[in-house]
Amino acid sequence: MRRMVRENLDSDTADELARRQTEADRQHAGGQLDVNGAWTSARKSAAFRPALAALKHMAGDTERCMYCLDSHGTDVEHFWPKSPYPQRMFDWANLLLGCAECGRLKGDRFPLDGGAPMLIDPSAEDPWEHLDFDSDTGNLMARVDAASGEPSRKGAATVDMLKLDAREALSKLYKRTFLRLRSEVDSALNAARGTDSPNAVALLDRLHALDDHGLLAWCFSERGAREQTLGRLRRESPGIWSQGESRFASTAAHR
Ligand SMILES: [Zn+2]
Repeated sequence: MRRMVRENLDSDTADELARRQTEADRQHAGGQLDVNGAWTSARKSAAFRPALAALKHMAGDTERCMYCLDSHGTDVEHFWPKSPYPQRMFDWANLLLGCAECGRLKGDRFPLDGGAPMLIDPSAEDPWEHLDFDSDTGNLMARVDAASGEPSRKGAATVDMLKLDAREALSKLYKRTFLRLRSEVDSALNAARGTDSPNAVALLDRLHALDDHGLLAWCFSERGAREQTLGRLRRESPGIWSQGESRFASTAAHR
């Protein structure tokens, strides 16, 4: 997962979504709302196209699913599911781009804790505050809080809901991306041996281009630094490490 920046809609599209929401609220209050019908009609309308384009743009060049960053994001996903929460079905902040598999796994499940979602919303928070990565298996898992020793409940719920530790193909691809990143760092460190340190900006740009799965935020953190090659980068090229940290691992949004 990776933190996404939510883009603003143009005012016509925002107005159109608001109009549809008002109409849905009115029908819902009267017990006559056909959630799927209302959604399908909006989704097919020309007025919705800019919203879809904005979601695709947020997801990046390859338009991957915002949850797994792996399969193609083919569906407009309602973070708060639309059937139990029709009052959010046209709320722009509630719309993400998702893949069929994540949509199937999530379904209408949406556990809350004191009214707050237990699923990570990549458009609203840094997923790595709740998640950790196992570079041996490629699995995602709940982040364990260093102070309390407790795994993040939100991370655990997200991993469980989207099976982020049990999708073999997914883990394989996360691991492949990690190995590519690591080998890029390795070559840069070896090339720099005895000479100047590797060109920071060029290396970070290459890493960014290789990071299909949002792993750099994990790599340039305390957790990533425990891995041998990344630990070596931090020791031998502290300047690059701190640039990487501020570029990738800050909780500030980045793509
Ligand atoms: Zn997905």
